[in-house]
Amino acid sequence: MKSKDKNINHQENAWWFILAQGEIVLQPQGSFVPYGCLDDLTFSAQLVADKIKIGDYQSSPCYLVELPEKLDVGLGEYSQLRSLLGTVDDALFDMAGRAFQISLFYKTHQFCGQCGQKMQAINWETAMKCYHCQHRTYPRVSPCIIVGIRKEKQILLALHQRHKKDNRPVYTTLAGFTEAGETLETCVEREVYEESGIKIKNIQYVTSQPWPFPHSLMMGFTAEYRDGNISIDPKELCSAAWYDIDDLPVLPNPGTLARKLIDKLIDQCS
Ligand SMILES: [Zn+2]
Repeated sequence: MKSKDKNINHQENAWWFILAQGEIVLQPQGSFVPYGCLDDLTFSAQLVADKIKIGDYQSSPCYLVELPEKLDVGLGEYSQLRSLLGTVDDALFDMAGRAFQISLFYKTHQFCGQCGQKMQAINWETAMKCYHCQHRTYPRVSPCIIVGIRKEKQILLALHQRHKKDNRPVYTTLAGFTEAGETLETCVEREVYEESGIKIKNIQYVTSQPWPFPHSLMMGFTAEYRDGNISIDPKELCSAAWYDIDDLPVLPNPGTLARKLIDKLIDQCS
């Protein structure tokens, strides 16, 4: 994949992921992400001189355009990436997340972590290379696990410290980052034990979801209770308890991976 695409085709219909100062230009309705050719968009070709192709969506190319500040491009308002969550389909959200991750990658890898010299973008893949010591870097992806746990007709749900001040606090599954040298299965067992004090069995992989805040890849599992009593890690959780599937608290929004896992556990109970 080319890192910078200097060729400008004014008639090519494309998706435009225009980022500035941590926000993205979104249109107020429709598909939200601006779509069209440069001739129709009244969008300065000068601004897209350094556009980066990040993939394709619905058979049209997707371009990342990074602006130095929130210039008015006449296509919509600058918005948080989170405002797209659950608003557009998963593939378009994931592409927007990819735009943010690639933007962050280029901004944070200007200099070599090994020798300190200036890095340069490689023109045939998404990577930065130091031509002084040959060190090469790629966009960082941080694997993390998220796991829904069932005990007969009950589900383990926790109130996380980060949600406790929300107006309607959400009760959700356990999650944590994978450590260096650890398998996903070991990570699931460790995180559950560290955060809740319980041991689990029958760990099953379900699905994954890129989570670009800022560069996680969440891998979702279900598991069943094996033994132990709930004993929370107060640094991570405010509370954790077994909830009957007929009497569940406020759950994460549909579309989130946590909710998919909880719904899968509910299905298993019925
Ligand atoms: Zn170097």
